[in-house]
Amino acid sequence: MNAMTNETKLSNLAKVTVEVGINLQPYQTLFINASIEALGFVRKISELAYRKGAGNVHVEWSDQELSKQRLTYASEEMLASYPNWSKGRAESFVEENAAFLNIQSTDPDAFKDIDPKRVAIQNKAAALALRKVSTARQSGKVKFCVVCIPNEAWAKKVYPHLNPKDAVEQLWEAVFQMTRVDTLEPVKEWDKHIAYLTSKVDELNEKRYRQLYFVAPGTDLTIDLPDDHLWVGGGTKTHDGVFFTPNLPTEEVFTAPLKTGVNGTVTSTKPLIYSGTVIENIQLTFKDGKIVSVNASKGLDTLKELIKTDEGARYLGEVALVPQDSPIAIRETIFYHTLFDENASCHLAIGAAYPLCVQDGNKMTGEQLGESGLNTSITHVDFMIGSNEMNIDGIQADGHREPLFRNGCWVK
Ligand code: ZN
Ligand code: ZN
Repeated sequence: MNAMTNETKLSNLAKVTVEVGINLQPYQTLFINASIEALGFVRKISELAYRKGAGNVHVEWSDQELSKQRLTYASEEMLASYPNWSKGRAESFVEENAAFLNIQSTDPDAFKDIDPKRVAIQNKAAALALRKVSTARQSGKVKFCVVCIPNEAWAKKVYPHLNPKDAVEQLWEAVFQMTRVDTLEPVKEWDKHIAYLTSKVDELNEKRYRQLYFVAPGTDLTIDLPDDHLWVGGGTKTHDGVFFTPNLPTEEVFTAPLKTGVNGTVTSTKPLIYSGTVIENIQLTFKDGKIVSVNASKGLDTLKELIKTDEGARYLGEVALVPQDSPIAIRETIFYHTLFDENASCHLAIGAAYPLCVQDGNKMTGEQLGESGLNTSITHVDFMIGSNEMNIDGIQADGHREPLFRNGCWVK
C-alpha cells in the first residue's frame, strides 16, 4: 500500500503511545513496565518522552522466563508476599502523578505447565499490594496505557502455518495496522477514531437503557444497568482534565453492569489468555449477578482460581460493545492477547467495574460505588462473547425495546 518502513511505523507507534496513549505532559514522570522483548521500542518511547519535556523516565523490566522460574521454584510463602519497596515505589509514582505505561510482549502459553494455584497466589498478592495503584488508575487519578510488541513465541501461536520469521513479520504488520500507525498522520487518524467512538458513547448515554439483552448460540443473558450508568469509549480524562487513551488499539464502548442485575448464561467466543494460560469455551451462568456455574473446555482450573480471587470476582464489572465489522474483527484472527481480541468482540469482565462508568463515580468511595450498583474486586479480566451470530437489544425504563446489534454489528 505504501512504502513506509517498519522503522517509521515503530516511530509512529511510539509517537501515538506518548501523545495519544498517555498524553504525556511537560515535567511529568513516565513509569514504564516493559518486557525485555521491547527494548528497541522502549528506547524510542524514552527519547520521545524526554524530548517532550518528561521529568524522568523510569523503566521496570520484566521477562517471562524469570517470572516462570519464580513461579516454579519459589516457596508458596514467597509467592504470597509482595516486596514493600516495590509497592512503595509504585505508590510514590501515583503520588507524584506519573503516567503509567505498560509495554507487553508475552507468550500466551508461558505458564501452561505451572500449577494454576501457584499463579493465583502470586497474582492475588500483587493485586492486594497494588490496590491503591489500581484504584488510582481505575478512577482516573493517574494516566495509564497498555501497548503490545510482537515476539516469536506469540507470533507462532497466532500464525502457526507460517515459519517463525514470516509469523513475526505478519504480526508486526497486524499490530501497525490495528494501531493505525501505518498511516502518514497517525495522531490525526486517532483523533478521528476517538471522535467516532465518542459519538457512539453520546448516543448510548442518551438512550438511558435499563437493560441489555444478549442472544447468540450458547448465550441468553440479560444485564441490568445502574440508574446513573455512563458509557465510555476511546479514552477518558484525568481529574485534572487531561484526555488519554488507556488501550492501543481500542474499538470498544463500555459501561458497568448493575452488580446484582445479571441473569442467564453466556458462552465465550474466543480463547482468553489469563496469566500465561489459554482458557477456551468459557460458559458462565449468573443468578442475580453472581456466577453460579462455571465451565470451560480448556483451562478450567485457572478460570476457577480467578473466580475465587475474592467476592467481587464472582460478579461482572464491565459490558463492552464491539461490532464484528471493526478493523480488528474483520481480520478474523485470534490474537491470543486480550488487548487485541477484546477489541474484535463484544466482551464482559469478571471483577471490578470502572468508577468512571457511573455519574461522579471518580469522586466516590468504594462503599458509595457499591451503593450505585458497581462491583468492586481486586481483579478485572475481560473475556470475549461477540460473534456474527450475536443479537443485542436495549430496553428502556418504560419497557420500550429496540435492536442494538444484529448479526454482530450495530443497527445503524
Ligand atoms: Zn473492555
Ligand atoms: Zn476490561
